[in-house]
Amino acid sequence: MELLEGTSALRAALDNVRLAGKSLGFVPTMGALHAGHASLIDRAGLECDAVVTSIFVNPTQFNDPKDLAAYPRSLEQDLALLEAHGCDFAFVPSVEEIYPEQDQSQSPSVPAVAHRWEGEERPGHFAGVIEVVDRLLDAVGPCRLYLGEKDFQQLAVLRAHYAQTARAVEIVGCATDRESDALARSSRNLRLSKEARSAAAAIPLALDAGVSLASEGASPAAIERAMTQLLLDAGAQQVDYAVLVDATSLEPALRVEPVTPQRLLIAASFGGLRLIDNADPKHSPLHER
Ligand code: AMP
Repeated sequence: MELLEGTSALRAALDNVRLAGKSLGFVPTMGALHAGHASLIDRAGLECDAVVTSIFVNPTQFNDPKDLAAYPRSLEQDLALLEAHGCDFAFVPSVEEIYPEQDQSQSPSVPAVAHRWEGEERPGHFAGVIEVVDRLLDAVGPCRLYLGEKDFQQLAVLRAHYAQTARAVEIVGCATDRESDALARSSRNLRLSKEARSAAAAIPLALDAGVSLASEGASPAAIERAMTQLLLDAGAQQVDYAVLVDATSLEPALRVEPVTPQRLLIAASFGGLRLIDNADPKHSPLHER
């Protein structure tokens, strides 16, 4: 694996890959890598001739400086994971490399799909995400971009953003990798106390309750009430949202649709940590996969 820190060195290396007629898969990450990230790298490796992974903790997507300071960093372990999963290029730029002084943050316009849910809870977050992915893609060039469904709204926002631009990028959404009790894998799970970790298993249970109510044709209001109650009964400190939405616009659903894709979205706090997850209400329950 080649480790690159500079934008121009990366561009030159990847131009050579493309000139050789090879396809390129790109997996942007903020490090603290786990099996969920590895599943994206594995998929990119199966579908592309070469894989580049970036590790960059992006300051512009944090609305709370304390969260940025507390973000876990484990570069040595991350590079070992990338190597073990056959990644070809690791791009680990400095903040100055991505945000040169003369080229200050521009706050790009965000598509409407960014406005609700995480957009409301974390003002400026998606503008920061769009800005950094744009800048990383400037360095990487034409590629297939592998993103996790774990961050479902982020995937929808980037799909909407790149649908409006002429950039040569094809977005690939990848299924969420889960722990044995179906909790979505996240570096945050390791920071939960034993009690909070076992209570957080209510998140996939609530999503499964939503899946089964949706299959029975319950109303969105009844689905949302049931998911929220299940989370609170399990000990959630706060439920920011537990909703059924249109899978493209992320607008609240008016009814369960037989054909149009929809999504169940949850954000809830356990033991002081805010966790997000989502599920397709037309798919089989998470606990049966
Ligand atoms: P992050 O480092 O948190 O910015 O995540 C980098 C990429 O990994 C994003 O596209 C995430 O959606 C994806 N990701 C994070 N956790 C998981 C997971 N459990 N399963 C699949 N993809 C994930």
